[in-house]
Amino acid sequence: MDELISITKSKREKKELSPDQEAKWTDWKWQVKNAVTTLEQVEEILGIEFSVEEKDKLSHTIEHFPMSITPYYLSLVDTEDYKHDPVFKQAFANMRELDVADHDMLDPLGEDKDSPVLGITHRYPDRVLFHVSNVCAMYCRHCTRKRKVGDKDFIPKKEQLEKGLEYIKNTPVVRDVLLSGGDPFLLSDEMIDWLLGELEKIEHVEVVRIGTRTPVVLPFRITDNLIEVLKRHGVLWLNTHFNHPKEITKDSKAALKKLAFAGIPLGNQSVLLAGVNDCPIIMKKLVHKLTQNRVRPYYLYQCDLSEGLEHFRTSVGKGIEIMESLRGHTSGFAVPTYVIDAPGGGGKIPVMPNYLISWSDHKVILRNYEGVITTYQEPEHYSGGNCDLHCLECDLQHVLKIKGEDEQTTGVASLLSDFDDRITLTPGEEDMDDDR
Ligand SMILES: *Cc1c(COP(=O)(O)O)cnc(C)c1O
Repeated sequence: MDELISITKSKREKKELSPDQEAKWTDWKWQVKNAVTTLEQVEEILGIEFSVEEKDKLSHTIEHFPMSITPYYLSLVDTEDYKHDPVFKQAFANMRELDVADHDMLDPLGEDKDSPVLGITHRYPDRVLFHVSNVCAMYCRHCTRKRKVGDKDFIPKKEQLEKGLEYIKNTPVVRDVLLSGGDPFLLSDEMIDWLLGELEKIEHVEVVRIGTRTPVVLPFRITDNLIEVLKRHGVLWLNTHFNHPKEITKDSKAALKKLAFAGIPLGNQSVLLAGVNDCPIIMKKLVHKLTQNRVRPYYLYQCDLSEGLEHFRTSVGKGIEIMESLRGHTSGFAVPTYVIDAPGGGGKIPVMPNYLISWSDHKVILRNYEGVITTYQEPEHYSGGNCDLHCLECDLQHVLKIKGEDEQTTGVASLLSDFDDRITLTPGEEDMDDDR
């Protein structure tokens, strides 16, 4: 039996490893090099057997959407009931991935359309998404960028990253850079060091964010050396991607602790997935475990319309039901924002139960999580509303050097403003373009 299989089997069965084997197991490069990519390996490691027919369909699926699972993540699967295991479902190919529904899209979020240079998606006014790696430790079956998974042509080289950096350098409105991928933490420490250093040199970049699933699928990536690299640079935020309480293990806790102790604020983005976490009880357990490990739930995503994800999609109602079960029932900072990333590239749209029931010219009617209906009296005299953008004459104190310096208001906010005469927003007109 080869080493990968014997080590992973022992781990799954919670057996002691020899010091040499343990050293391999906890070496992230060993984990990446030994990522499980075939049906036969999965059968051997989990001690299960697929039928000939299953195997046939599954091989078709992974020909189309490749499979790659870190031995660590695979070792978390409960073999007694693997078909319902949340780890197995996120990692292992499902024949239903090949059922393309009518409304499925290759690039539902319009990321390629909003891309000024390869690797950059610039959709919001002040921030960009920078795809710095197309490689992942594990290929999540629910990946919204499934179209690119395993696409070896898109492994950005340094020159490629330099083009992205150049764009950011030449675009002063960008104050927030979100490093994503693929997984940025699959880059080498040296590359990460270089990239963060380059971003730090750009004066208008105020914060850098990293989106990585390594704390979940490859916790050993969070090495002491990586922490030293991260600590060397400017303000860094990190979002990870736990979907189920089962993923919070001793190893992932250790990784999160190291990151938090390095002073990096941690957030989590979950995806609502049918058969994995579409349950208020599971979600509550997840957000509790996250906050116990210094991670603030940030977003809960409605599953995108990417090809191959139909079997993972839930109704939006399920998401709202989950939000209803969290708000008020648990710590406010444990409640994520539930969002639908608008198909076609409209960005993230928050959705939630209605708390504002009705209003008149002097009262608003609200309901709380228990169903108590209450009234809030508006102030009798409030004149803060009229703004003509003469900030230099305004009594509110803010640091503003030039009139209107950063006071651009676009989108629906501009309809609310007093200084903009427009009464409608028409798609395709100037205002839409300003949003970029
Ligand atoms: C999600 C996303 C961001 C970041 O959005 P926040 O709401 O600020 O977290 C930026 N750009 C793109 C294209 C995104 O999809």
